[in-house]
Amino acid sequence: MGSIFVFSMPNQESTSISEFDIIVVGAGPGGSTFVHCMAGSGLTIALIDKATFPREKVCGDAIPGTAVRVGKSIQPDFWKGLDALHPVRRARGVSPSGIVMDLEYVTEGYTCSRLDFDDYLVQTAKTYPGLTTYFGRKTKDVVRSEGMHLVTLDNGEQLSARLIIGADGAHSTVARKYTDTKLDRNHHCAAVRAYYRGVEGIGHDRLTVYFLKDYMPGYFWIFPLEDGLFNAGFGMLSRQVSENRIDLRNSLDQIIQEDPQVKQHFENAVQEGRNEGFGLPLGSRNVPRSGDGFMLLGDAAGLVDPVTGEGIGNAMISAELAAISAREAFATNSMDGKLLAAYDRAIIKKFGSNFRIKYWAQLLLADRPWLIEGLLRFKWSSNLIQWVIKKVV
Ligand SMILES: Cc1cc2nc3c(=O)[nH]c(=O)nc-3n(C[C@H](O)[C@H](O)[C@H](O)COP(=O)(O)OP(=O)(O)OC[C@H]3O[C@@H](n4cnc5c(N)ncnc54)[C@H](O)[C@@H]3O)c2cc1C
Repeated sequence: MGSIFVFSMPNQESTSISEFDIIVVGAGPGGSTFVHCMAGSGLTIALIDKATFPREKVCGDAIPGTAVRVGKSIQPDFWKGLDALHPVRRARGVSPSGIVMDLEYVTEGYTCSRLDFDDYLVQTAKTYPGLTTYFGRKTKDVVRSEGMHLVTLDNGEQLSARLIIGADGAHSTVARKYTDTKLDRNHHCAAVRAYYRGVEGIGHDRLTVYFLKDYMPGYFWIFPLEDGLFNAGFGMLSRQVSENRIDLRNSLDQIIQEDPQVKQHFENAVQEGRNEGFGLPLGSRNVPRSGDGFMLLGDAAGLVDPVTGEGIGNAMISAELAAISAREAFATNSMDGKLLAAYDRAIIKKFGSNFRIKYWAQLLLADRPWLIEGLLRFKWSSNLIQWVIKKVV
């Protein structure tokens, strides 16, 4: 921890405030990867999360190759200690009428429960020498004055720093305080998932995705995890969810029990836990991701892939890019928004055209199930899709 100083406002009692170089709000993949990427900087960091770890995070649990790559760039054998990482080698897409397309994985792919994955990232981040963690502590308020951010936690504790990293997910407090970005249902997805045992006919190294004509644009997934567990769920563009008044939790049960193609896998399956849903801010629109003394990462920066719904790898990549700007800011002793705007530009360079292509693809497929039928029908299109995945993913 940095020095503790006493801060007093007129007509207020003196309050002790813990001072750091950087405050990171949120210890999901974005926030904890940021700490990893600051290794050797000598800066003091406070890492805050309202949860205590290990904690669950509503997710499909598919770990993209990009996430694996970021871990390996931190340390080549980074993932060695994560036993719950389950390799997947194949993917299957099934059209509304039952046409099947099988693809081989072109990059390394895994699944892993977020309980284990996020905990691993957090526990390994704790080796950072200048780190103080505030877990089980919600960030209630953030204000910036005279070049310092003052963070107030739900137990009244206060921390301050010159730089704040908003890695606090889809309902980010930091983004809400420092930007005007509002939820836009055309660029937002809603998704729900549940865990099952005894799912049949899926294969333990294959991600299976069903395109269902009543739930587009979006898809239903069945992903295998370690120990015979399966993650099943589905997600859709939020505009469609609200226009069609879809209750996602009920729809998930309905698909599993009634859809002729899906239900065969669940005849002997037993659910563990409840259906849980959450929102995904898509990367298909440009929003401010930095300003004077702050940067936003991952879901807080709206970086979820508009077609696949993956956001773990993108959160980790944004952490890598933010760490470059953070080092630059401290090296030049400037937290100026103009300097940190280099982070926004790096994000656009990394994701901009990829997200644009995917956004148009999503719009094109939105109310054209026949197009998916056509794409999955022909062998040449599987080669084309494999090629596109290599180029775009
Ligand atoms: C149903 C569903 C399925 C998904 N499936 C996949 C998938 O299979 N693969 C994939 O790559 N992505 C998937 N995603 C997206 C993925 O979950 C997110 O993109 C990813 O978690 C983003 O990481 P993050 O670090 O930005 O935020 P998060 O993982 O959301 O972490 C944010 C952290 O901030 C903490 N926090 C929030 N508010 C506060 C506060 N006020 N004070 C203190 N702490 C706070 C939270 O406790 C949390 O630990 C899915 C999402 C959903 C909803």
